Amino acid sequence: MIKTPSTQNTITPAESKAKQDSYWIKTFGCQMNKADSERMAGILQGMGYREANNELDADLVLYNTCTIRDNAEQKVYSYLGRQAKRKHSLPHLKLIVAGCLAQQEGEALLRRVPELDLVMGPQHANRLETLLNQVENGNQVLATEENHIFEDLTTARRESKICAWVNVIYGCNERCSYCVVPSVRGKEQSRSPEAIYKEVESLASLGYKEITLLGQNIDAYGRDLPGISPQGRRENTLTDLLHFIHEIKGIERIRFATSHPRYFTERLIDTCFKLPKLCEHFHIPFQSGDNNILKSMGRGYTIERYKRIVDRIRSLMPDASISADVIVAFPGETTEQFQKTLNIIKEIGFDLVNTAAYSPRPNTPASTWPNQLPEEIKIERLLELNSIVEATAKKRNARYLNKIEEILVENSNPKNEKQVMGRTRTNRLTFFSAISPKGLQYKPGDLINVQINTIRPFSLSGNPLE
Ligand code: SF4
Repeated sequence: MIKTPSTQNTITPAESKAKQDSYWIKTFGCQMNKADSERMAGILQGMGYREANNELDADLVLYNTCTIRDNAEQKVYSYLGRQAKRKHSLPHLKLIVAGCLAQQEGEALLRRVPELDLVMGPQHANRLETLLNQVENGNQVLATEENHIFEDLTTARRESKICAWVNVIYGCNERCSYCVVPSVRGKEQSRSPEAIYKEVESLASLGYKEITLLGQNIDAYGRDLPGISPQGRRENTLTDLLHFIHEIKGIERIRFATSHPRYFTERLIDTCFKLPKLCEHFHIPFQSGDNNILKSMGRGYTIERYKRIVDRIRSLMPDASISADVIVAFPGETTEQFQKTLNIIKEIGFDLVNTAAYSPRPNTPASTWPNQLPEEIKIERLLELNSIVEATAKKRNARYLNKIEEILVENSNPKNEKQVMGRTRTNRLTFFSAISPKGLQYKPGDLINVQINTIRPFSLSGNPLE
């Protein structure tokens, strides 16, 4: 939707390009948002913008937002307030809100912050140039209508030169009763295997060594794509995609996130075990240890099924790392049900758990339910949960001591220039000397065997072996 032209922008499109305006993107939330921001940065650079040194120097400020919980939403408004003030003295400044909060609030955001030039939902990330050209013509633009996400040929401006995010499916068709994602990211849209193959191939040619395939519910990949085998099996599944891109030379490691226990198949586990580039790292949110809570969450599996998945993974890959997401103090959650969640965490021994107390979100069924729990219960349960998560992660981490782990060097250690940092195949951050025993300097992209000698709850250190 386009609002009538205004007189506030005094610098012409040509002038701003000549002056090489600068941009600043601040990203909130998940990996999908980070991948979208990298693509939007690529679009801005393609338009002639350069990255600003800091937010308050930029001629264009884009907040790529999250609304998964209330605190994520509130954070954005404090940033916006500062920039809206700035705009009063800098009329040519362009202010953009993208991502899930933009989709959720839409027009209301323009009313709340009239200084905004563009409010665009996640499905419009690829259309940033088109939308910005409408702004350049003096319009205030709202882009939140349902949109088919076309393949985007922009070269994303990626943070890393070694590890890359690759979107494979956008949106989600599930209806978890607490989740805002389906209403802000829309229906599932899988990219074609050929488009994904082409992107990964070009990444390999640029020297990337590791890719992470992304989707809100990645195991649902391909269910909106045509193709049923003569045996009636769905083709173009995530497992098929993994086999397809596994052959690309130059890529050493493949990861994928985020999984859903309802669609996590034995065939996928077996494939991860058989294909050497597939890393032994699984992110499978379980959300609650109680089946009745899982039912009211609309998750579509039982905790017994979840445990069978973990058992199957560990029967083939005993040292695989398993991480998860969990929500406590969901409406109606009793002390006994909460205890079941704590028991599962102790029983499974996760490498990492992203924890949260239930936060009612707009347009979600659970937000209207009467049995909401008080804030103090939420805080109390979250604190207890976090201490158990840290204790089990530390215990689980002990298995690395004295072991030799293959580390993909990603960068120098920002806190110690004599060290480099990278991750194990199980996604554990590891620090070690930047110089090999024979005096060679390690560089990003190197795969180095490191003997682990120090354990911390969420990272490791060790000695590189020649
Ligand atoms: S699977 Fe559920 S929790 Fe995950 S994005 Fe979809 S609706 Fe949200």
